[in-house]
Amino acid sequence: MIEVDTEITLMAAGYCTHKERVTIRGGSSRTVRFPALFALIEHPEKGHILFDTGYTERFFEETSRWPYSLYGRMTPVYYTPQDSAVHQLRQRGIEPADIRYIILSHFHADHIAGLRDFPNAEFIYLQEAYEAVRYRKGWSAVTAGYLPGLLPNDFEARSVPIDESCLIKLPSELPFKRGMDIFQDGSVIAVDVPGHAAGQIGIMVSSKSHAYFLCADAVWSSRAYREQLLPHWMAGFIMANRVQYRETFLKIHQVYKLCPELRIVPSHCTEVWEMLVQGGDMR
Ligand SMILES: [Zn+2]
Repeated sequence: MIEVDTEITLMAAGYCTHKERVTIRGGSSRTVRFPALFALIEHPEKGHILFDTGYTERFFEETSRWPYSLYGRMTPVYYTPQDSAVHQLRQRGIEPADIRYIILSHFHADHIAGLRDFPNAEFIYLQEAYEAVRYRKGWSAVTAGYLPGLLPNDFEARSVPIDESCLIKLPSELPFKRGMDIFQDGSVIAVDVPGHAAGQIGIMVSSKSHAYFLCADAVWSSRAYREQLLPHWMAGFIMANRVQYRETFLKIHQVYKLCPELRIVPSHCTEVWEMLVQGGDMR
């Protein structure tokens, strides 16, 4: 399915905290960290591509005023300027202007807070994900986990939503109905993982050594998909569609059973994050 040699580097830009028992069935009452992971994909022809961006200072600016401050109060965020995607990319010799594309899993603030930092990037996402937040402001935006000020002013002009021309058939044993071959070269295949947010996508992408499935917020931890532990019912309040969330969650577990060698990366997985901190970049 995938023939192009890409390099994939996972990084985290800040984290928030939640009670473990809300995030996973049978979890303890302790507070756990939720890293905001993002990925750099280096494509031989398309150049530097990001999958999401994690947090930036702008999250704090946007949540400094009412009613967006409610978002900040509900979700304590920990972040230093060294955590930003821009800072970490510069350390790798990549300037913000070098980022050609940013693939957006969905429009929650912890995934889009860095978009304004990349002046040349085109934005790739499912239109349905954007429509779910497009006209939201104030309290309505907060309830959708969205902060409108995070989108660049020319966001729509630089958008290239995924369209029908990208549709491909996936191997029939996979539980997803359709694949979307984003660059039409087999390098980055998006799949629908709705429920947590409308129109959420995950991507399958391979480096020379490993195949990855970056599944965004379809599941919150590796333990959750391995042991099939759904979040507490209370977490349902922040899901766009509880029924779809459950269906998608079970599909991720199914993929894990089918392809145990595939590196499934939930965007907020502490286990993945600890691996990155301890041992480099999970390549
Ligand atoms: Zn998230």
